[in-house]
Amino acid sequence: MAEVSQPTGDNPRAAEIPPAASGVGNEGVKKLVAELLAGRIVDIRPELDFTSELGFSYPVVEQALKVKGREVLSILESLVSKDTLVRNFFDRLLRCPQCRSVNIRPYSCCPQCGSGNFARGRVFEHLSCKFGGLEDEFVSGEGYICPRCGVELRIGGGDYQSLGLMCKCYDCSEIFSQPEIQWRCLKCDALTPQDRIEEVIIYSYSFNEAKRGWLEFEAKPKAQLIQSLKRLGYEVKEDAVVKGRSGAEHSIDIMATKDDGIVVHDIAIGIKVAGEAIELGEVCDFDDKVYDIGIHDKVLVVLPGLTKEAEKFASQQRIKVLEIKSLETVLASSAAKPAVEAPKEPFAVKSKAQLIEYLKRCGYEVKEKAKVSGRSGATHEIDILATRDDGIVVHDIAIGTEAARGAVGLDKVFAFDNKAYDIGIMDKVFIAVPGLAKEANQFAQRQRIKVFEAKEL
Ligand SMILES: [Zn+2]
Ligand SMILES: [Zn+2]
Ligand SMILES: [Zn+2]
Repeated sequence: MAEVSQPTGDNPRAAEIPPAASGVGNEGVKKLVAELLAGRIVDIRPELDFTSELGFSYPVVEQALKVKGREVLSILESLVSKDTLVRNFFDRLLRCPQCRSVNIRPYSCCPQCGSGNFARGRVFEHLSCKFGGLEDEFVSGEGYICPRCGVELRIGGGDYQSLGLMCKCYDCSEIFSQPEIQWRCLKCDALTPQDRIEEVIIYSYSFNEAKRGWLEFEAKPKAQLIQSLKRLGYEVKEDAVVKGRSGAEHSIDIMATKDDGIVVHDIAIGIKVAGEAIELGEVCDFDDKVYDIGIHDKVLVVLPGLTKEAEKFASQQRIKVLEIKSLETVLASSAAKPAVEAPKEPFAVKSKAQLIEYLKRCGYEVKEKAKVSGRSGATHEIDILATRDDGIVVHDIAIGTEAARGAVGLDKVFAFDNKAYDIGIMDKVFIAVPGLAKEANQFAQRQRIKVFEAKEL
């Protein structure tokens, strides 16, 4: 077959399968996974069904999901791409290139005129008149007579030859050894030569048991985690693709973002589910990605746990590690916190009292002139230290305030940044009265210090 629809790649039909990312498709994927996990669906086998769009169907899936045809296929294939289903060769079907129906029948015909009106048998040729025909045509009583010239053939004589088993067309008299195969489509009636017919491979699918742990996690604890984050006022994106400072694109299992009006909190949550303890390498990969993106609130949800080395690294890099067992406790404690709504208007600093009041409303505990010891051993005083424990992560904001007669200079911002760095606080806010000098502002931007300028405090 010269023109197969898609030759022998490992996914001969991939191009035809619509992505299953649509809302309905996603629902279907979730539902099918639930059926697989519950063991209500085990093997997914196709059945030939000429009345259906594809010519085959997966009745078990159609019944369970109440979807049909191509949509079923796209759900199945999307689960193959996620390693949830394993695809096995089931059958090879031929189909009409005109209408894609697999309801086609082979049709043998004369290669000269295309007629199906031919017969197969022993073929003789009368040498003197060149007439060729089936033995039957020559038979007359006891002997053979050439139907064209009427001469009797001598048995054993040299005046005719047998060409062996051949075919002869009754319509155009062509003699040929093999009829041509054409395919008649029973749906659109098109006739297609053998070498133009399309080929399609159909598969059966089976559940990949190795994914059970992950899927069970995804079905429940992950959904609960996302729900908690939303309740805490986060916008949540699953499988978020984020561009890093290096230009590389990274995929983060869950990205949670909340804009307090004062600081934007991003939490990168990685999920590692495996048969055995998660290795250092995987934790490093996660940390590298998140560092490249520039997020400092890092959470890893793991099943079953981390190796010793990986654990040590995670604590050095301030990655909060949640084992799935402890996740339930965390979610329960987070559920006990009051729900938080993200503020609708951008925040503007009017007075210290108003700022503190605002922070409290956002769920922060606020300490003025807080004494905090840094990693260097020195004790620093932070004008305002705001802390909020989400249950999932603890957010600390260091707020520095500085009033001057003219613009606040670089040295003040620099000193504030150093203190915050020594303490290990990444969310930094600087309030300058009446404003910041140009180079101080540039420095603040580079160090990701959020600056508010106020007329007075
Ligand atoms: Zn003859
Ligand atoms: Zn013919
Ligand atoms: Zn057709």
